[in-house]
Amino acid sequence: MTVAHHPTEATLAAFAAGTLDEGRMLVVAAHLAACPDCRRSVRMLEATGGVMLDDLAPADFAADGLVRAMAQLDAPPAAPVAARRAETIPGLMPAHARLLAPYDLGPWRWVGPGVSWRMVDAPTLPGGRVFLLKATGGTALPDHTHTGTELTCVLTGAFRHEHGRYGPGDIDEADDEVDHTPVVEAGSDCICLVAMQGRLKLNGLLGRVLQPFVRL
Ligand SMILES: [Zn+2]
Repeated sequence: MTVAHHPTEATLAAFAAGTLDEGRMLVVAAHLAACPDCRRSVRMLEATGGVMLDDLAPADFAADGLVRAMAQLDAPPAAPVAARRAETIPGLMPAHARLLAPYDLGPWRWVGPGVSWRMVDAPTLPGGRVFLLKATGGTALPDHTHTGTELTCVLTGAFRHEHGRYGPGDIDEADDEVDHTPVVEAGSDCICLVAMQGRLKLNGLLGRVLQPFVRL
């Protein structure tokens, strides 16, 4: 597997310092599961950032989340719960199944033609801001902008937009300047893990029709 798109240095540093919220932590951890280079960077940041970590006194949930996320990466394969989750999401990397195993996943819910989403229950982030987004091959995802940032890690399949191709393990970091329309590659479903800060705003007619039903 070739990972082409990585988190920014700032995001990796925040992950290592335990200052990301749990949703973003989870998305970065999903990238780390597929990217030895960034795993090395995080271990170095952790080793050199001990004093800074103490000074920052991150919230308990962040520290717990980090420990849990890293423990999931190091965990031996084939935990019973992970196996059950893996069955529900075909094609998921074992490391990603382990990462999601501690979380309750809601039912798939229809968003639009070919697109559905599924909430990831992160206790520190109520309101469905961490979710799985699934789109069938060939689908153009709803055109949208947001008031905050959006962190996406591809779990299965691939999509493309003007910045390139995003396959399993690739991270797409979008801020509120970005307004793009990803198109899913034909051939297989694309499932992404998405953490969002701020509010999603769907554009266009489809967006206006769907907005009342998509409370993200
Ligand atoms: Zn990386």
